[in-house]
Amino acid sequence: MDAMPRPGFDPLAAVRAATNDGEDGGCDLLLTGTVFQDIIFTGLDHGPEPGTEVWSQGMGTCPGGVANQAIAAARLGLRTSLAAAFGDDGYGDFNWRILETQEHVDLSLSRRFEGWHSPVTVSMCVDHDRSMVTHGHPAPMSASELIGEPPKALAAVADLGEEPEPWMLAARKAGVKLFGDAGWDPTGEWSPRRLEQLSNFHAFMPNQREAMAFTGMDNPWSALYALADRVPVAVVTLGAQGAMAVDSETGEEEWVPSLPVTAYDPTGAGDCFGAAFVVGSLAGWPLGDRLRFANLCASLAVQEVGGSLAAPGWGDIADWWH
Ligand code: ATP
Repeated sequence: MDAMPRPGFDPLAAVRAATNDGEDGGCDLLLTGTVFQDIIFTGLDHGPEPGTEVWSQGMGTCPGGVANQAIAAARLGLRTSLAAAFGDDGYGDFNWRILETQEHVDLSLSRRFEGWHSPVTVSMCVDHDRSMVTHGHPAPMSASELIGEPPKALAAVADLGEEPEPWMLAARKAGVKLFGDAGWDPTGEWSPRRLEQLSNFHAFMPNQREAMAFTGMDNPWSALYALADRVPVAVVTLGAQGAMAVDSETGEEEWVPSLPVTAYDPTGAGDCFGAAFVVGSLAGWPLGDRLRFANLCASLAVQEVGGSLAAPGWGDIADWWH
């Protein structure tokens, strides 16, 4: 992978300038969702056939779900506040400790729920592919119930549900930049009602499968332009093909190919990409720089086994972006 020299450009300084470096008592990024327990097996030659056992070369155990983006954002220097449900079990203890103590994510809006078990995802990585098994029950409280009055924040990431959550509308009214994630659709049908919610967002960042399902288009480019009709900044991530975006406010359109790396564990790549894109947006970078930076961070993450804990910090990025 070649370095991308940007003479005279100090991204961390730009982010600090944009985020006041904590002086106002608020946070930079507010995240909501559910924390999963991820158990990831990597380096498998093939997945298990019924009735057989396979051994993996590597394994990671880490916080997953919304924790992926929280950790990626915190490692990039954003003061990150997470409003999430945590299970009342050993996984909940483990994930709370990692997020709060090791990753410095603010959990004052999060809660443990008695009797509610952490949802668990087991991922099996075979080459660039991944199969997952997930088990869990919906969180006992919505983000709005957890948050109440939204804290002061520069940006927030929210799932594109069928209805806007009250906390989101309040945050938007207060000037918070809203970034949309595709979220999860248990029906797999991605109701068109979700598309109508895009008018509440500054940016929407689905992967290509989600973008095509949302828009009904048969290719990611058409899906991107269909999304760009509805939201100021539309981004579609393309896995090993990189990412593309349209910023309708500035008229910029960009595609960046992914970096030629060996991907051992793609878990959380999209979340890492999203967190880095928020950093670039808060720092006011041009669309091409926002995309290149997010692409770089995600490509560093996929080379490491460890899901959320593979997200890069500035120390890891410095060699490639200076
Ligand atoms: P996930 O669900 O694993 O979080 P996603 O499906 O939301 O990921 P992808 O489009 O798969 O998102 O990947 C997001 C970004 O990660 C890509 O745009 C790219 O920058 C990087 N990436 C993913 N896979 C690879 C790879 N094999 N090689 C290099 N970069 C990759």
